[in-house]
Amino acid sequence: MMLMRHWQIKEGSDCVLCSLCTIESRDHHFFACPFALSCWDLLNIKWDCSLTISQRFLIAKGEFEGPCFMEIVVCAAWNIWKERNELIFQGKVPSFSRWKVRFQHDLLLHQFRVKQSVVQPLLDWSSTCFT
Ligand SMILES: [Zn+2]
Repeated sequence: MMLMRHWQIKEGSDCVLCSLCTIESRDHHFFACPFALSCWDLLNIKWDCSLTISQRFLIAKGEFEGPCFMEIVVCAAWNIWKERNELIFQGKVPSFSRWKVRFQHDLLLHQFRVKQSVVQPLLDWSSTCFT
């Protein structure tokens, strides 16, 4: 599948982040897996998995009540991916609290990359989200 290749996930293996014995797919791993859902819940981002990926992003972005939607999503997804890889390659049990610390750390680095006008809103959003 073209989309699977772009997301660097091979089809056919079970998800390692949950005990659902679900085939690991992009949709499961990043959007429907209970581990990912906990992450998105914390960030107050809702995904409608019945939509195409582009519609899903469009709707979620429209509903998101914070700044830097794409930076936040990429940061969250990257750290979900890291939890998966560390289990596979280093045997580390996936940890929501470790994901949270890493996400916040990576997100705070974005203050040096985003437009000056969104730095304070990003910091405010982050502190509200993690209190
Ligand atoms: Zn899963």
